[in-house]
Amino acid sequence: MTKEQVLKKYFGYDTFRPLQSDIIDTILNRQDCLVLMPTGGGKSICFQVPAMVLEGITLVISPLIALMKDQVQALQANGIPAAFINSTLSANEQRTIETQCRTGELKLLYVSPEKLLTPNYLDFIKTLKISLIAIDESHCVSTWGHDFRPEYTQLYVLKEAFPDIPMVALTATADRVTRKDILKQLGVPDAKVFISSFDRPNLKLAVSPGRNRLKIIHQFIAQRPKDSGIIYCLSRKNTEEVAEGLRKLGIAAMHYHAGIDAKTRSEVQDAFIKDEIQVIVATIAFGMGIDKSNVRFVVHYSLPSNVESFYQEIGRAGRDGLPSDTLLFYSFADIVTRKDMIDKSELPPEMKEVQLAKLDRMKQYAETEICRRRVLLSYFNEEAQNDCGNCDVCQNPPVKFEATIFAQKALSAIARADEKVAMGLLIDILRGAQNRNVFEHNYHTLKTFGVGKELRYEEWADYITQMLNSGIIDIAYDERHSLKLNTLSWQVLKGERKVELVKFEPYEVKKARQEEAAPKEKSKKEVIKDALFDKLRILRKKIADELNLPPFVVFSDATLSDMAQKKPINKIQMLAVSGVGEQKFKQFGERFINEILDFARENTEPGKTRVVKGFTYVETLDLYNKGLAIEEIAQRRNLSPVTIISHLIKLKEEGNDINLKDLLPSYEYNQIIATAMRLNMQKGDALKPLFDELEGLYDYGKLRIALAMWEGN
Ligand code: ADP
Ligand code: ZN
Repeated sequence: MTKEQVLKKYFGYDTFRPLQSDIIDTILNRQDCLVLMPTGGGKSICFQVPAMVLEGITLVISPLIALMKDQVQALQANGIPAAFINSTLSANEQRTIETQCRTGELKLLYVSPEKLLTPNYLDFIKTLKISLIAIDESHCVSTWGHDFRPEYTQLYVLKEAFPDIPMVALTATADRVTRKDILKQLGVPDAKVFISSFDRPNLKLAVSPGRNRLKIIHQFIAQRPKDSGIIYCLSRKNTEEVAEGLRKLGIAAMHYHAGIDAKTRSEVQDAFIKDEIQVIVATIAFGMGIDKSNVRFVVHYSLPSNVESFYQEIGRAGRDGLPSDTLLFYSFADIVTRKDMIDKSELPPEMKEVQLAKLDRMKQYAETEICRRRVLLSYFNEEAQNDCGNCDVCQNPPVKFEATIFAQKALSAIARADEKVAMGLLIDILRGAQNRNVFEHNYHTLKTFGVGKELRYEEWADYITQMLNSGIIDIAYDERHSLKLNTLSWQVLKGERKVELVKFEPYEVKKARQEEAAPKEKSKKEVIKDALFDKLRILRKKIADELNLPPFVVFSDATLSDMAQKKPINKIQMLAVSGVGEQKFKQFGERFINEILDFARENTEPGKTRVVKGFTYVETLDLYNKGLAIEEIAQRRNLSPVTIISHLIKLKEEGNDINLKDLLPSYEYNQIIATAMRLNMQKGDALKPLFDELEGLYDYGKLRIALAMWEGN
């Protein structure tokens, strides 16, 4: 089979993504290669397709047991014989798999590095006909990578054992140093390197000021009541609080962190994967080894420590390529917390500096006033050609205003309070708040007390934060975060420097404006598509439960969406849906077709346009199956008998059980066909000459039936 045929037959996809095709050709040419693609980029196809094209078995080294299991499950669902070997299997199970390897039944074998390196195991592998070696998550071989695993450094033995077998190393994260190191460690220094863009255009990027987080998350989820998502928090306690808060608001949310016992953890994870929990609130302990392709949003409750982690975490959304959302909450306090964490860590000073520099890049992302995707991609040394149009800055460019007076008010209040107040108290002074803290320090007697009444608390908080960000105000973390003046502050106070700020807009207002700008009124078609998608999703869950599989293994969201769009009602149409390969068609096709037909029946009103193309045939078929004669069907459907006949002929061609002979006595058939033969008629010829030759003895419907029967023979 060619690689294209494999892609269609087993995976149900029509075309390769950029690079996939080149990578596979390289492998089929027996060359080594290194593949760098972001999460969801489609790395697996790069070795799974050659595995099916090549003779023999593909050995896949994969570090995460959970991932192995998922991948094998997904392969099997596509009708590809695959298995994994790791410490979780019994000796018996292992033996069965080893036998399948020897007999050549298996096409892909997943092995953990630990297992591979146990004594004699490599000897066993050497007895097999290995066609390709794939090293997944290959950054783990490098001490430079962020997930270094000592077992991985032994993997050079593979190339020694199989010098002529192509090797492909894959990873979603590797900078230049790591990249080189991977190739060195694996003993393939000359491997061809493929680097795909790290852009994930389907991920929408947005940042919100870190206030009223729970309320905003609630609104955010309320707009996506059926979508799965992950919320990342900084602390364990935080995950528990947020999950609890969301549950009180009626959202199926659970927390997850490394402090929970292993059993509960795996139950929570399982429920999430099976679409039984909508939201996971987790520390960064969650996500490694989660392959769930239909995560529709990722929220960061607090600021991540660096852009790599952030990108990896948001990368867990939208692996299936469908539009997905990301939302980062950002406040100055988060920066402070992160800085404290770095300060208090055991790291050597130079590492602390690196961490601080990385934190600073994260801050830049959060604060940027240009397209966020540009900022993100520049971090990965990629230059975006255009503004993305799919981030909050692009969709809602910041509006600036002349804010020198506001800045002066704030700065002078800081000065008069002897640079001893933190942000909260400063705002109280500016707004003239009558509270104990203010009275205790006699701040109500300051000249600046109440000079900033015209702004609300959150407006001041936003503007002071902006001033901190732009360096007009300093902050002393070691003095209870009291605000300080610097040279720039004095320039502003003296009127030597002007200040511009971005106009504050509460999240809700911003959101509402965005929605207004983008006409959200769904067309009738979209409404129908969404309704069908929901029905298909319910069926998917039912099937997944019957088979004890994650729903996204049955079909991805992307596949369901394409199906809801195309509304296939026969085999050919169903196989044209992206992600429906032969095995999945065999296993699930009929049930999904029936679901679509039911949907069409429920939604079709006489005389109205049909929601499913070709449904008119099905309506005819339904009546035919009830035993009605052609004339009766025609009458009921208000169509001519000739049309009904053409329906039945087409239905027959599509493999439906239609007995054309019942529709035409055999002497009539014989006479028509004898005449057609005499006229030397070919398939597709016009019927008029035949009609004339028979002197109008039979109507066109009968002629069609006879010819269809004839061609069918
Ligand atoms: P990665 O391992 O790089 O994170 P996957 O291999 O899991 O990514 O692929 C991500 C998603 O994209 C999967 O749902 C996969 O089936 C789908 N996919 C991969 N290649 C194609 C393709 N050529 N056409 C359509 N979908 C694809
Ligand atoms: Zn943008």
